[in-house]
This record gives sequence, C-alpha cells and structure tokens, in this order.
Amino acid sequence: MTEGRGNGTLRQLDEKGKKIGLPSRLLDFYQGLLNLQSKAEQQIGKVNPDIKKQVINERLAHGRPLITYNEIAFNWDIVNNLFTQVIELFSHYSDLFGEIPNSLNKRNTIPRNLVKAWYKKSPPPSSLATDDADELLLVDAIIHATIKPTLVRYASALSGFVQQEKWKQNICPVCGGLADIAFLEEKEGARWLVCSRCDTEWLYKRFECPYCKNNDQSKLGYFTDDDSIYRLYVCEECRKYIKAIDMRATEDKILFPIERILTINIDNQAREEGYEPGTS
Ligand SMILES: [Zn+2]
Ligand SMILES: [Zn+2]
Repeated sequence: MTEGRGNGTLRQLDEKGKKIGLPSRLLDFYQGLLNLQSKAEQQIGKVNPDIKKQVINERLAHGRPLITYNEIAFNWDIVNNLFTQVIELFSHYSDLFGEIPNSLNKRNTIPRNLVKAWYKKSPPPSSLATDDADELLLVDAIIHATIKPTLVRYASALSGFVQQEKWKQNICPVCGGLADIAFLEEKEGARWLVCSRCDTEWLYKRFECPYCKNNDQSKLGYFTDDDSIYRLYVCEECRKYIKAIDMRATEDKILFPIERILTINIDNQAREEGYEPGTS
C-alpha cells in the first residue's frame, strides 16, 4: 500500500474533515476516489521505466522532465477499468460536480487522444472540445483522477534521480506537471512544491510565483491562518494562488493526498478574493 493512500489515510480524512466541518458528502466522495486510486496503484504495481542514466542526466541538466508521454507504458486495461469506476463515482455526486459530459458518458474506454492532450497540457482534441468552462474542468478532473495512479508509480521509480539543488524549475521534474500545494520544510523553512499529477516533491524558490515565475516581491504575498500552519501564497501578476503547509508549525504527519482536500476552504477563500488555482 502506497503511503498516503491506505485505509488509515481514509480514516484520517474522515476524522479531520468532520472536525473542521467539511460536508460529509464531499468527504464520502473523496474517500471513494482515494480508495479507487489506491486499488489501481496496487494493480499497476512497480514500474521500471527504460530510460538510460545518460538520458536522465541530460534531461535534468536542460530542465526537462524525466519522462515523456510516449515513454509511459500505460496498462490500458487497468486505466479503462478505473475510468469507468471514476465516471460512476462522479455521476453519483452530480450535485457537487455537475452531470458527466456527453463526450465521456457511457464509454468503456478512456479517449487516448484526450489523455495525451491532458498530459501535454494541450487543448482537448476537436472531437471532444467544448466551450463550457465547467464541463472542461470536470473532464480535466476525471482524466486527472484516472491517470494519477499510473503517474504516481512512475514518480516512485524516478523521483530519486532528481538533484534538488539543481532543478528548481516551476514544473515537476518527473512528469512536467504543475504544483497544486506546497510546504515549508521543518528545518530551514525552504519551500517545496508538490506535483498535482504525480505527487513528486521538489525544491523551489520561496519568493517566486510557481506559475508565472514573477519574482517582484511587491507583487507577491501570503496569508496565514490563526495557527500559522496553512499559508496561501498569491501572485498579483498572474492572480494565481498556491496553498502551503508550514511544517515548522505542526507535529502532525502530513499526507498530501488528504491535505489537498482538508484545505478546500482555503481554495474557496482564495477564489472569493479573485485568485485562481495555478493548475486551472
Ligand atoms: Zn509530476
Ligand atoms: Zn504569478
């Protein structure tokens, strides 16, 4: 069982979530999703990407992620099985997320061209395109939820090669994804980003926007909560935000898969102030 996704994690999500007053329906949904992803991760098992050491070093030296889309050996049986389960789960919570878009509904297989476009952060293929922003977000969430277990497995295999002091890019060194949460480490308070797609952690500058790379300090700021555990970093240049956890202020073991959910109120506050998540 991968750390951060087991039964203990689901219990912790339930207990902590209820304590801070998150709606039980929302918690049920996320428990269901983490459970499906955890099972898929076990089915996928350990992966052995066939990338030569020299290629790894070249990519890192040029600030390029360790793996490209074509090098990922998707197990499509597992991916498609998870896809149908994810669709079913989302469709049970249409009051929270909206109806499943027609482009994905009643399909047994995930559109591979959509997976590729999502991975490369390109617009969806024209046959699956839509002008509806909510629909786009939901399609993105479904693809993300379905592909994540595969990417997490690749991250486990590859993240050890990253030389943190040398990377410091605003994209994930393994998959090239963007971060959706950050943390300040216990000792010196250095800021680390966590990949929204594969959960790889990487060291990043503390005073630079991880989305537009703005480093004009007059346009960067952060807010903290009463306990100083959570921070909301905002950038006035691109109007994006990232949530962060200050590890110096807590002794709790932090599990990012559930922290993303436990901090949903911070996302709501940020949106109310007119900021957008950096991954949107
Ligand atoms: Zn990643
Ligand atoms: Zn910015």
